[in-house]
Amino acid sequence: MSSNVESLYQEIILDHYKHPRGSGALAGASGESHQVNPTCGDEVTVGVDLDESGHVHVGYEGQGCSISQASASVMSELVEGATLADMAKAERAFVELMHSKGNAEPDEEVLGDGVAFVGVAKYPARIKCALLPWMALQDARLKAGIEIDKAEG
Ligand code: ZN
Repeated sequence: MSSNVESLYQEIILDHYKHPRGSGALAGASGESHQVNPTCGDEVTVGVDLDESGHVHVGYEGQGCSISQASASVMSELVEGATLADMAKAERAFVELMHSKGNAEPDEEVLGDGVAFVGVAKYPARIKCALLPWMALQDARLKAGIEIDKAEG
């Protein structure tokens, strides 16, 4: 990755941190999960709901480092209003990206600004920060009884 791309990605992450998209608790969430990353002090609560037309709605609140909070913002951008299938795709792609050790060529069509986190995957201590909101989403989704396996077919 060129240093230009790397600094562009850092700017994207910082922008999401400073201007979080879609932040705030989701009223009437059917599942909610509070996750903590004790090694960094990050916290995030994600609420999720599925509407009658099969679209996902999320809300989140949190505090902590720029990586964790920017990741929550990106998650909201990718998942809010998405179909179950698209949510599953984004979730899987982001988790894969975080396990790529920074060698992935992330698909911007699936991950949007999430591609900016590719460099984060080089730092094991920060991977937990980036994954925290996605873990909260998964847990909230399970509590709400929303199974993405149903979206595969
Ligand atoms: Zn953190």
